[in-house]
Amino acid sequence: MTSHSLAERVRRPVPGILPVPHHPIYLDHHATTPVDPRVADVVVNAMVNVFGNANSVDHTHGEAALELVDRATEKVADLIGSETEGVRFTSGSTESIRFAVGHAIATRRNRMLRVAATRVEHQAVLDALRIAVRAGLAQVVWVEVDEEANLRPESLRAALNEGVDLACVMAANNEVGTIYPIEQIARDAHQAGAKVLVDGTQAAGRVDLRTQDWDLDYVAFSSHKIYGPKGVGALVVSKAVVHSELTENVVGHIGTLNVPGIVGFGEACRLMQLEGPADDKRITECRDRLEANLIREIPGIVVNGNRRHRLPHNLHIALPGIPNDAVIARLRNKVAISTGAACSSGAQTPSHVLKAMGLSEEMQDGAIRIGLGKYTTRDEVDRAADEIVAAVREVTGSLQGVST
Ligand code: PLP
Repeated sequence: MTSHSLAERVRRPVPGILPVPHHPIYLDHHATTPVDPRVADVVVNAMVNVFGNANSVDHTHGEAALELVDRATEKVADLIGSETEGVRFTSGSTESIRFAVGHAIATRRNRMLRVAATRVEHQAVLDALRIAVRAGLAQVVWVEVDEEANLRPESLRAALNEGVDLACVMAANNEVGTIYPIEQIARDAHQAGAKVLVDGTQAAGRVDLRTQDWDLDYVAFSSHKIYGPKGVGALVVSKAVVHSELTENVVGHIGTLNVPGIVGFGEACRLMQLEGPADDKRITECRDRLEANLIREIPGIVVNGNRRHRLPHNLHIALPGIPNDAVIARLRNKVAISTGAACSSGAQTPSHVLKAMGLSEEMQDGAIRIGLGKYTTRDEVDRAADEIVAAVREVTGSLQGVST
């Protein structure tokens, strides 16, 4: 279990690189996570000591690099219960999702890909589908969610009954943290003759995901959400996809492999598997403490998502009538939190997730996503609660024309 704080984690500043001021308490772990120093050590070791090209195995330098990649592949596969042959390394989930959709389209040959996708998928999935639809390669039936972002089973059933080739369902939502019953969904999709694309980016290592046992066709996940380096992730595909005649269309990292990144990703997966459950228990306690503090101090606050079945590190709140940007701006140098609705370009857009949940505009405008991590301490969540409460009171006061 991780016990040190984020500040203690930072060991030696790199000359010439401006240190990010660490005093704002970091509570935006859905956006990205800090790299675990043990992961950084293996990355540096791979970079400096095992610099060979994993594709040049005519000598021991290349062989050593390939061996590191193979060992990392095992750890990546283990975390999500797949076989190693299904792992394709990518630059992250966005790329994995593009490859999966591309492969699904290729298997249809010249017929249009019929897709069922939940309305709360990440922008990476929405963009991949939008591009395919515009190109005339796919059509999409949307699966509705309820006010907690749970899938409406009748909507999924109706979509599958229409005749679908691919069902896109995330394992857990990146805004409100709701977890989806992937095993059941995969079973239903397969019965209806559809493949499944599971976006496991937020869920991997935190939620039970069994790629092989559940026969998941495509699973996307990313290193930087589990304390690994950025710019590396995986698309993990089923045996059937591996052995399909179109395997070459399941593109992964092409060209020279990013050996240090892959090695770091592997180590992050190993640590997540080993320590994740204990870390998550502590994170859940901190999250619940923060939630209780905010509920006690902020009248009218609403907690969104499925509170019985959500990611351990997620707390999504709405402050009706209190603009989230004003609160977040006041917290800028104190607590790093976000609306959670940024699209891949970083631009703030109204949240399609909250809209799909049927939240009122007032609630959407007051929505804030808080994401805890394994370095978050109890003291930090208490200080964060004080800061958030103070910011909300300030904004409320200024809205009422009262100085606080
Ligand atoms: N899917 C989900 C659910 C995410 O939360 C994210 C990142 O925020 C992505 C996909 C994109 O991941 P990446 O940054 O690895 O491309």
